[in-house]
Amino acid sequence: MRALTVVPGSPGSAAVRDVPEPAPGPGDLLVDGLAVGVCGTDREIAAGEYGWAPAGEEHLVLGHESLGRVREAPEGSGFAPGDLVVGVVRRPDPVPCGACAHGAFDMCRNGRYTERGIKELPGYASERWCVETGYAVRLDPGLGEVGVLLEPTSVVAKAWQQVELIGGRSWFEPRTVLVTGAGPIGLLAALLGVQRGLEVHVLDRVADGVKPGLVRDLGATYHSDGFDAAIAAGRPDVVIEATGAAALVLAAMGGTGAYGLTCLTGVSPEGRRVEWDAGGLNRTLVLENDAVFGSVNANADHYRAAADALARADRDWLTRLLTRRVPVAAATDALRPDPDGVKTVITLQD
Ligand code: BGC
Repeated sequence: MRALTVVPGSPGSAAVRDVPEPAPGPGDLLVDGLAVGVCGTDREIAAGEYGWAPAGEEHLVLGHESLGRVREAPEGSGFAPGDLVVGVVRRPDPVPCGACAHGAFDMCRNGRYTERGIKELPGYASERWCVETGYAVRLDPGLGEVGVLLEPTSVVAKAWQQVELIGGRSWFEPRTVLVTGAGPIGLLAALLGVQRGLEVHVLDRVADGVKPGLVRDLGATYHSDGFDAAIAAGRPDVVIEATGAAALVLAAMGGTGAYGLTCLTGVSPEGRRVEWDAGGLNRTLVLENDAVFGSVNANADHYRAAADALARADRDWLTRLLTRRVPVAAATDALRPDPDGVKTVITLQD
Protein backbone atom coordinates (compact mmCIF):
# COMPACT_ATOMS: atom_id res chain seq x y z
CA MET A 1 0.00 0.00 0.00
CA ARG A 2 1.03 3.62 -0.46
CA ALA A 3 2.22 5.86 2.38
CA LEU A 4 3.75 9.32 2.62
CA THR A 5 7.14 8.91 4.30
CA VAL A 6 10.17 11.01 5.20
CA VAL A 7 13.66 10.33 6.44
CA PRO A 8 13.69 12.55 9.54
CA GLY A 9 16.54 15.06 9.51
CA SER A 10 16.83 14.79 5.73
CA PRO A 11 15.26 17.77 3.94
CA GLY A 12 13.50 16.94 0.69
CA SER A 13 13.21 13.22 1.53
CA ALA A 14 9.39 13.15 1.59
CA ALA A 15 8.08 10.57 -0.88
CA VAL A 16 5.06 8.37 -1.52
CA ARG A 17 6.38 4.81 -1.14
CA ASP A 18 5.07 1.28 -1.06
CA VAL A 19 5.09 0.02 2.52
CA PRO A 20 3.91 -3.29 4.02
CA GLU A 21 0.23 -3.66 4.96
CA PRO A 22 -0.33 -3.04 8.70
CA ALA A 23 -0.98 -6.13 10.81
CA PRO A 24 -3.55 -5.45 13.57
CA GLY A 25 -2.71 -6.78 17.03
CA PRO A 26 -5.46 -8.36 19.18
CA GLY A 27 -6.69 -5.01 20.59
CA ASP A 28 -6.37 -3.01 17.37
CA LEU A 29 -8.73 -1.62 14.78
CA LEU A 30 -7.81 -2.00 11.12
CA VAL A 31 -8.82 1.24 9.44
CA ASP A 32 -9.08 2.45 5.83
CA GLY A 33 -7.41 5.86 5.83
CA LEU A 34 -9.69 8.51 4.34
CA ALA A 35 -7.65 11.68 4.79
CA VAL A 36 -4.88 13.33 6.77
CA GLY A 37 -4.55 17.02 7.46
CA VAL A 38 -1.23 18.75 6.92
CA CYS A 39 0.08 21.31 9.42
CA GLY A 40 3.21 23.30 10.19
CA THR A 41 4.67 20.37 12.11
CA ASP A 42 4.44 18.12 9.02
CA ARG A 43 6.17 20.82 6.95
CA GLU A 44 8.87 21.17 9.60
CA ILE A 45 9.43 17.40 9.54
CA ALA A 46 9.58 17.42 5.74
CA ALA A 47 12.15 20.22 5.94
CA GLY A 48 14.32 17.98 8.11
CA GLU A 49 13.91 20.18 11.19
CA TYR A 50 11.81 17.93 13.45
CA GLY A 51 10.61 14.33 13.67
CA TRP A 52 12.05 10.96 14.66
CA ALA A 53 11.74 7.59 12.88
CA PRO A 54 10.70 4.48 14.85
CA ALA A 55 13.66 2.77 16.58
CA GLY A 56 15.82 0.91 14.07
CA GLU A 57 14.03 2.36 11.01
CA GLU A 58 15.10 4.93 8.48
CA HIS A 59 11.67 6.19 7.42
CA LEU A 60 8.81 7.76 9.33
CA VAL A 61 5.27 7.54 7.93
CA LEU A 62 3.92 11.11 8.23
CA GLY A 63 0.41 12.17 9.24
CA HIS A 64 -0.96 12.89 12.71
CA GLU A 65 -4.28 14.57 11.78
CA SER A 66 -6.18 11.44 10.80
CA LEU A 67 -9.58 10.36 9.57
CA GLY A 68 -10.50 6.81 8.66
CA ARG A 69 -13.26 4.22 8.40
CA VAL A 70 -13.04 1.03 10.47
CA ARG A 71 -12.54 -2.08 8.33
CA GLU A 72 -12.08 -4.65 11.13
CA ALA A 73 -12.78 -4.28 14.85
CA PRO A 74 -12.15 -6.74 17.69
CA GLU A 75 -15.29 -8.45 19.07
CA GLY A 76 -16.73 -6.52 22.03
CA SER A 77 -14.50 -3.48 21.43
CA GLY A 78 -17.43 -1.09 21.03
CA PHE A 79 -16.30 -0.32 17.45
CA ALA A 80 -17.80 -1.76 14.29
CA PRO A 81 -16.84 -1.85 10.62
CA GLY A 82 -17.97 1.38 8.95
CA ASP A 83 -17.37 3.62 12.02
CA LEU A 84 -15.71 6.94 11.28
CA VAL A 85 -12.65 7.24 13.55
CA VAL A 86 -9.66 9.40 14.35
CA GLY A 87 -6.49 8.09 15.99
CA VAL A 88 -5.02 9.91 19.00
CA VAL A 89 -1.51 11.28 18.31
CA ARG A 90 0.43 10.83 21.52
CA ARG A 91 1.25 7.73 23.59
CA PRO A 92 2.50 7.84 27.19
CA ASP A 93 6.20 7.50 27.93
CA PRO A 94 7.31 4.00 28.96
CA VAL A 95 8.57 4.91 32.46
CA PRO A 96 5.83 6.26 32.91
CA CYS A 97 6.10 9.71 34.50
CA GLY A 98 3.35 10.69 36.94
CA ALA A 99 1.35 12.60 34.31
CA CYS A 100 1.48 9.75 31.77
CA ALA A 101 0.57 7.25 34.49
CA HIS A 102 -2.59 9.28 35.12
CA GLY A 103 -3.73 9.53 31.47
CA ALA A 104 -2.36 13.10 31.19
CA PHE A 105 0.15 12.11 28.51
CA ASP A 106 -0.31 15.52 26.89
CA MET A 107 1.48 16.86 29.99
CA CYS A 108 4.36 14.31 29.90
CA ARG A 109 7.18 15.38 32.20
CA ASN A 110 10.17 13.44 30.91
CA GLY A 111 9.78 14.04 27.16
CA ARG A 112 9.91 10.32 26.37
CA TYR A 113 6.35 10.25 25.01
CA THR A 114 5.91 9.07 21.41
CA GLU A 115 3.65 10.58 18.72
CA ARG A 116 2.11 8.98 15.61
CA GLY A 117 3.63 10.57 12.51
CA ILE A 118 5.97 12.80 14.52
CA LYS A 119 8.03 10.98 17.11
CA GLU A 120 9.04 7.30 16.81
CA LEU A 121 5.63 5.91 15.74
CA PRO A 122 4.29 5.56 12.18
CA GLY A 123 1.72 8.18 11.26
CA TYR A 124 -1.66 7.87 9.58
CA ALA A 125 -0.76 9.01 6.02
CA SER A 126 -1.23 5.53 4.55
CA GLU A 127 -4.04 3.75 2.75
CA ARG A 128 -4.62 1.53 5.77
CA TRP A 129 -3.53 1.84 9.40
CA CYS A 130 -4.01 0.22 12.78
CA VAL A 131 -4.84 1.89 16.05
CA GLU A 132 -5.37 0.52 19.56
CA THR A 133 -9.08 0.77 20.45
CA GLY A 134 -8.14 2.82 23.54
CA TYR A 135 -6.60 5.48 21.27
CA ALA A 136 -9.39 5.62 18.69
CA VAL A 137 -12.15 8.24 18.85
CA ARG A 138 -15.47 7.58 17.12
CA LEU A 139 -17.01 10.53 15.28
CA ASP A 140 -20.58 11.53 14.57
CA PRO A 141 -21.06 9.78 11.18
CA GLY A 142 -22.63 12.97 9.80
CA LEU A 143 -19.33 14.84 10.16
CA GLY A 144 -17.84 13.11 7.13
CA GLU A 145 -14.69 14.72 5.73
CA VAL A 146 -14.51 17.56 8.28
CA GLY A 147 -13.76 14.89 10.89
CA VAL A 148 -10.15 15.38 9.75
CA LEU A 149 -10.26 18.59 11.81
CA LEU A 150 -10.65 16.66 15.07
CA GLU A 151 -6.94 16.59 15.96
CA PRO A 152 -6.31 20.34 15.56
CA THR A 153 -9.62 20.96 17.36
CA SER A 154 -8.42 18.75 20.24
CA VAL A 155 -5.37 21.02 20.55
CA VAL A 156 -7.57 24.14 20.92
CA ALA A 157 -10.06 22.31 23.17
CA LYS A 158 -7.13 21.72 25.51
CA ALA A 159 -6.00 25.35 25.19
CA TRP A 160 -9.49 26.59 26.18
CA GLN A 161 -9.68 24.10 29.06
CA GLN A 162 -6.35 25.45 30.34
CA VAL A 163 -7.59 29.06 30.00
CA GLU A 164 -10.61 28.17 32.13
CA LEU A 165 -8.60 26.26 34.74
CA ILE A 166 -5.96 28.97 35.09
CA GLY A 167 -8.53 31.78 34.97
CA GLY A 168 -10.48 29.92 37.67
CA ARG A 169 -7.73 30.65 40.22
CA SER A 170 -9.72 33.78 41.10
CA TRP A 171 -12.89 35.52 39.91
CA PHE A 172 -13.01 35.04 36.12
CA GLU A 173 -15.70 36.09 33.72
CA PRO A 174 -13.86 36.83 30.46
CA ARG A 175 -15.70 38.85 27.85
CA THR A 176 -13.23 39.30 24.99
CA VAL A 177 -10.62 37.12 23.33
CA LEU A 178 -8.05 38.01 20.70
CA VAL A 179 -6.80 35.14 18.58
CA THR A 180 -3.53 35.91 16.80
CA GLY A 181 -3.20 33.98 13.53
CA ALA A 182 -6.06 32.86 11.27
CA GLY A 183 -4.59 29.50 10.33
CA PRO A 184 -6.50 26.33 11.26
CA ILE A 185 -5.53 26.54 14.95
CA GLY A 186 -6.50 30.21 15.18
CA LEU A 187 -9.79 29.74 13.35
CA LEU A 188 -10.73 26.70 15.44
CA ALA A 189 -9.76 28.58 18.62
CA ALA A 190 -12.04 31.41 17.44
CA LEU A 191 -14.87 28.93 16.81
CA LEU A 192 -14.57 27.57 20.37
CA GLY A 193 -14.47 31.15 21.70
CA VAL A 194 -17.72 31.98 19.88
CA GLN A 195 -19.26 28.75 21.19
CA ARG A 196 -18.42 30.04 24.71
CA GLY A 197 -20.35 33.25 24.06
CA LEU A 198 -17.24 35.48 24.00
CA GLU A 199 -16.61 38.54 21.84
CA VAL A 200 -13.94 37.18 19.49
CA HIS A 201 -11.32 39.15 17.53
CA VAL A 202 -8.92 37.49 15.10
CA LEU A 203 -5.68 39.10 13.88
CA ASP A 204 -3.82 37.94 10.79
CA ARG A 205 -1.44 39.45 8.25
CA VAL A 206 -3.57 38.95 5.15
CA ALA A 207 -6.36 41.36 4.22
CA ASP A 208 -8.04 39.21 1.58
CA GLY A 209 -8.54 35.56 0.63
CA VAL A 210 -10.80 33.20 2.57
CA LYS A 211 -9.83 34.18 6.13
CA PRO A 212 -11.73 37.47 6.65
CA GLY A 213 -14.99 35.89 5.47
CA LEU A 214 -14.52 32.82 7.65
CA VAL A 215 -14.01 35.04 10.71
CA ARG A 216 -16.98 37.28 9.87
CA ASP A 217 -19.25 34.27 9.35
CA LEU A 218 -18.44 33.13 12.87
CA GLY A 219 -19.77 36.45 14.14
CA ALA A 220 -16.22 37.52 15.08
CA THR A 221 -14.17 40.59 14.05
CA TYR A 222 -11.25 40.31 11.65
CA HIS A 223 -8.16 42.55 11.94
CA SER A 224 -5.23 42.82 9.53
CA ASP A 225 -3.61 46.12 10.55
CA GLY A 226 -1.31 44.81 13.26
CA PHE A 227 -1.53 44.12 16.97
CA ASP A 228 -1.96 47.68 18.25
CA ALA A 229 -4.90 48.32 15.92
CA ALA A 230 -6.47 44.99 16.91
CA ILE A 231 -6.56 45.97 20.61
CA ALA A 232 -7.30 49.68 20.05
CA ALA A 233 -10.94 49.26 21.06
CA GLY A 234 -10.02 47.47 24.31
CA ARG A 235 -7.43 45.12 25.73
CA PRO A 236 -8.60 41.49 25.58
CA ASP A 237 -9.21 39.32 28.64
CA VAL A 238 -7.68 36.33 26.86
CA VAL A 239 -5.23 35.97 23.98
CA ILE A 240 -4.82 32.69 22.15
CA GLU A 241 -1.53 33.09 20.27
CA ALA A 242 -1.36 30.85 17.21
CA THR A 243 1.46 32.26 15.09
CA GLY A 244 4.65 31.66 17.09
CA ALA A 245 5.95 34.94 15.58
CA ALA A 246 8.41 36.18 18.24
CA ALA A 247 7.46 39.87 18.36
CA LEU A 248 3.73 39.10 18.27
CA VAL A 249 4.13 36.60 21.12
CA LEU A 250 5.75 39.29 23.28
CA ALA A 251 3.20 41.94 22.27
CA ALA A 252 0.38 39.54 23.13
CA MET A 253 1.80 38.80 26.58
CA GLY A 254 1.87 42.49 27.48
CA GLY A 255 -1.29 43.48 25.62
CA THR A 256 -3.98 41.77 27.67
CA GLY A 257 -6.20 43.56 30.16
CA ALA A 258 -5.68 43.14 33.91
CA TYR A 259 -5.79 39.47 35.04
CA GLY A 260 -5.18 38.71 31.35
CA LEU A 261 -4.33 35.25 30.14
CA THR A 262 -2.07 34.53 27.19
CA CYS A 263 -2.12 30.99 25.88
CA LEU A 264 0.78 30.24 23.53
CA THR A 265 0.13 27.50 20.98
CA GLY A 266 2.46 28.41 18.09
CA VAL A 267 5.75 26.54 17.86
CA SER A 268 8.41 28.96 16.63
CA PRO A 269 11.84 28.18 15.25
CA GLU A 270 14.70 28.64 17.72
CA GLY A 271 17.13 31.51 17.39
CA ARG A 272 14.68 34.35 16.69
CA ARG A 273 15.94 37.43 18.53
CA VAL A 274 13.96 40.62 19.08
CA GLU A 275 14.79 43.69 21.10
CA TRP A 276 12.09 44.17 23.76
CA ASP A 277 11.45 46.13 26.93
CA ALA A 278 11.70 43.10 29.22
CA GLY A 279 11.43 45.26 32.34
CA GLY A 280 8.21 46.83 31.11
CA LEU A 281 6.77 43.45 30.19
CA ASN A 282 7.61 41.97 33.57
CA ARG A 283 6.13 44.99 35.33
CA THR A 284 2.87 44.64 33.40
CA LEU A 285 2.59 40.90 34.09
CA VAL A 286 3.19 41.38 37.83
CA LEU A 287 1.06 44.47 38.38
CA GLU A 288 -1.88 42.96 36.47
CA ASN A 289 -1.72 39.41 37.86
CA ASP A 290 -1.41 38.24 34.25
CA ALA A 291 -0.63 34.64 33.33
CA VAL A 292 1.20 33.33 30.29
CA PHE A 293 1.36 29.64 29.50
CA GLY A 294 2.12 27.23 26.69
CA SER A 295 -0.22 24.47 25.54
CA VAL A 296 0.51 21.56 23.21
CA ASN A 297 -1.07 18.28 22.21
CA ALA A 298 -4.22 16.82 23.78
CA ASN A 299 -5.39 13.85 25.82
CA ALA A 300 -8.48 11.68 25.37
CA ASP A 301 -10.77 14.13 27.23
CA HIS A 302 -9.78 16.93 24.86
CA TYR A 303 -10.56 14.75 21.83
CA ARG A 304 -14.04 14.16 23.26
CA ALA A 305 -14.53 17.90 23.90
CA ALA A 306 -13.34 18.58 20.34
CA ALA A 307 -15.75 16.02 18.88
CA ASP A 308 -18.63 17.81 20.70
CA ALA A 309 -17.46 21.21 19.44
CA LEU A 310 -17.28 19.99 15.83
CA ALA A 311 -20.69 18.34 16.10
CA ARG A 312 -22.17 21.71 17.23
CA ALA A 313 -20.39 23.77 14.55
CA ASP A 314 -21.81 24.76 11.17
CA ARG A 315 -20.83 21.97 8.75
CA ASP A 316 -20.44 24.31 5.76
CA TRP A 317 -18.16 26.62 7.70
CA LEU A 318 -15.95 23.67 8.70
CA THR A 319 -15.89 22.45 5.08
CA ARG A 320 -14.64 25.89 3.97
CA LEU A 321 -11.53 25.38 6.16
CA LEU A 322 -10.46 22.49 3.90
CA THR A 323 -9.11 24.70 1.14
CA ARG A 324 -6.80 22.26 -0.67
CA ARG A 325 -7.27 18.53 -1.37
CA VAL A 326 -4.33 16.56 -2.71
CA PRO A 327 -4.62 12.88 -3.71
CA VAL A 328 -2.15 10.52 -2.05
CA ALA A 329 -0.23 9.94 -5.29
CA ALA A 330 0.75 13.63 -5.25
CA ALA A 331 1.02 13.86 -1.46
CA THR A 332 4.43 15.56 -1.47
CA ASP A 333 2.72 18.59 -3.11
CA ALA A 334 0.63 18.94 0.04
CA LEU A 335 3.80 19.77 1.99
CA ARG A 336 4.27 23.02 0.07
CA PRO A 337 2.94 25.97 2.07
CA ASP A 338 -0.43 27.34 0.99
CA PRO A 339 -0.36 30.93 2.29
CA ASP A 340 -3.80 31.88 0.97
CA GLY A 341 -5.54 28.71 2.08
CA VAL A 342 -6.34 27.30 5.49
CA LYS A 343 -6.11 23.50 5.74
CA THR A 344 -4.55 21.19 3.17
CA VAL A 345 -5.73 17.59 3.30
CA ILE A 346 -4.32 14.52 1.60
CA THR A 347 -7.08 12.17 0.43
CA LEU A 348 -5.89 8.60 0.88
CA GLN A 349 -8.27 6.57 -1.29
CA ASP A 350 -7.90 8.54 -4.57
C1 BGC B 1 0.57 18.25 17.00
C2 BGC B 1 0.64 17.85 18.44
C3 BGC B 1 2.07 17.53 18.83
C4 BGC B 1 2.97 18.69 18.49
C5 BGC B 1 4.43 18.47 18.84
C6 BGC B 1 1.56 19.35 16.74
O1 BGC B 1 1.52 19.68 15.39
O2 BGC B 1 -0.72 18.69 16.68
O3 BGC B 1 -0.19 16.74 18.65
O4 BGC B 1 2.14 17.25 20.20
O5 BGC B 1 2.87 18.97 17.11
O6 BGC B 1 5.01 17.34 18.27
